[in-house]
Amino acid sequence: MPTCAALIVAAGRGQRFGGSGPKQYAPLKGEPLLRRTLRAFAEHSEISSILVAIHPDDEDLFTEAAQGMNAAFVHGGATRQESVLKGLEALAGDAPDLVLIHDGARPMVGAATISAVISALVNNDGALPVVPIVDTLKKIDGDIVGKTVPRDQLVRAQTPQGFRFAPILDAHRKFAGESFTDDAAILEHAGHQVLTVAGDDANVKVTTMEDLARLESALSETRIGQGFDVHKFGPGDFVTLCGVKVPHDFGLEGHSDADVALHAATDAILGAIGAGDIGQHFPPSDEKWRGAPSDKFIKHAYDLLRAQGGRLVNLDITIICERPKVGPHRDAMVQSIASILDIDASRISVKATTTEGLGFTGRREGIAAQAVAMVSA
Ligand code: MG
Repeated sequence: MPTCAALIVAAGRGQRFGGSGPKQYAPLKGEPLLRRTLRAFAEHSEISSILVAIHPDDEDLFTEAAQGMNAAFVHGGATRQESVLKGLEALAGDAPDLVLIHDGARPMVGAATISAVISALVNNDGALPVVPIVDTLKKIDGDIVGKTVPRDQLVRAQTPQGFRFAPILDAHRKFAGESFTDDAAILEHAGHQVLTVAGDDANVKVTTMEDLARLESALSETRIGQGFDVHKFGPGDFVTLCGVKVPHDFGLEGHSDADVALHAATDAILGAIGAGDIGQHFPPSDEKWRGAPSDKFIKHAYDLLRAQGGRLVNLDITIICERPKVGPHRDAMVQSIASILDIDASRISVKATTTEGLGFTGRREGIAAQAVAMVSA
């Protein structure tokens, strides 16, 4: 099997991006965008090494993004073309047979595209993934349409662009300082043939914040979690439900404030992200949680969800008891949860039911609660 290096170009400043830092390090589903790009190559069996051309100011960002991955870096240059040449020169000492040159800001590159480019290099010096143009193309003069451009011979070029190492290094050295839009153009200019292979519409390049937001939502999946809890009545003159004190002839027994509704809701959120249950995060054996307000618990579960880049789509709670009457407090309960989590109240629902006098809730021995949480993560 030929050796194949991946050279990832990630030295740009991303002037069109408009985020707080370089786009290749912007968070995508809770991790730097570049990390997802690197993973695509790191997990591909035909890639033997990864070298990333980075901006000299970005060493810390890169080290964090590439943590645990076998990826080296080289300082890039002022232009993309210069960065690629620096990368190729760095690889030249122990030259691979093939090199795939890829934009750091294309995190959705698929294994099939990488394989197709590598396969095409068996009989060609260069290979380029392309996708068809579906929109009609117009040549314009100011705001005025000049003419329609035939698109049957036009395609959009993507990366990774693949090359046999020696000819692309020669071409880059030869035309250093000239201005080419991509590496395939440089190889063509040097008189070599570049074969096209099928690209992938999903392999988008992130240029603007809107691109990133679109990708973030395309990558989201909806997940569901459910929770159930029971606490029994004991001495007292109020119960706490959804963080709201409700006057009653009894209190609820429990290690914390025994907010059965928030406990069920906490478990629902934890369940949706596969993060265990409330007892694991807040052991009843821990004195720290004696009498603790349960807003801490649900806030913790919610913070775990947020840390994964997820959001709460909705939370639906059912409180099961004969007494106290929940109805008069329902709006306050919804507002209470909305304010604990700092989300819109329209995403929260609190319902109540009795069990028609049946079972332990019917005998007024305690309160049960069920909750369902839908999350997008
Ligand atoms: Mg409980």
